[in-house]
Amino acid sequence: MRSHNGIERTAVKIFADIKMVVQFTWSCTGSRLFQMHEITTFADRIISLYVLAGVRPTLVFDIDGTLVEHNDAEDVIKDTCTLLRKYVKKLPVLLCTARPESLRTETEKMLRARSLDGYTSLIMRSSHERNVEAFKTREINLWRDSFHPAPCLRFGDNIWDIVSMPCDRYIERFQASCNARCVLGELYIGILLPVESERQ
Ligand SMILES: [Mg+2]
Repeated sequence: MRSHNGIERTAVKIFADIKMVVQFTWSCTGSRLFQMHEITTFADRIISLYVLAGVRPTLVFDIDGTLVEHNDAEDVIKDTCTLLRKYVKKLPVLLCTARPESLRTETEKMLRARSLDGYTSLIMRSSHERNVEAFKTREINLWRDSFHPAPCLRFGDNIWDIVSMPCDRYIERFQASCNARCVLGELYIGILLPVESERQ
C-alpha cells in the first residue's frame, strides 16, 4: 500500500519536473489579514512538499510590504516573517529589495532587530539602477541560474517581485486585483501578497 507521503512525493516529482507552459493561479479573497494567512499557509505547504521530495527551493522575499509594513515603525508582517524564520536555516533565503545600497547598514540592523537575519544574501539596488522591475528580474534570475537551479518561490507585494519581467498581460492584471495569489510559472512560483487597503 502506498503511504500518504509516497503519494505526496510522486505529486511533487511531477510538479517539479513539468515545465508549466500554461500558467495556473490560486487566489483568495477576504480581509488582508485573512488572505495573508491563507497564502502563506498555501506557500508553506508547497515548500513542505518540495522538501519531502528532496528538493531545496530558494525562497526570495521582498522587504517593504512583504516582511515589514510601509509605515514609520516598519512593523513586521507576521505571516511572512514566520515563514522566513521557519526556513531561514534550512533553505537558501534571498532578500531582494529596491532599497538603495546606501541603506544597507540600517536595513540589516532593522532586520536583525526583528529577528529576520540569518538569510543567505541581501540584494539591494545600486544608485545607478533606475528600473526596479529590471533590477529584480536580473538579480533573481542570476542567482537562480548561478547557484540554485532548484525552483524559486518569490514573495512580494508587487508583480515584479513575483515574476520575471516583462510578463504577459494575463499575469500583469493580477496587480490590479489586490488579492493574494499564487502564480505557477515555468521557473518560479510567485506568491503575490495582499496590499493594505489604502494602497488599493
Ligand atoms: Mg514591496
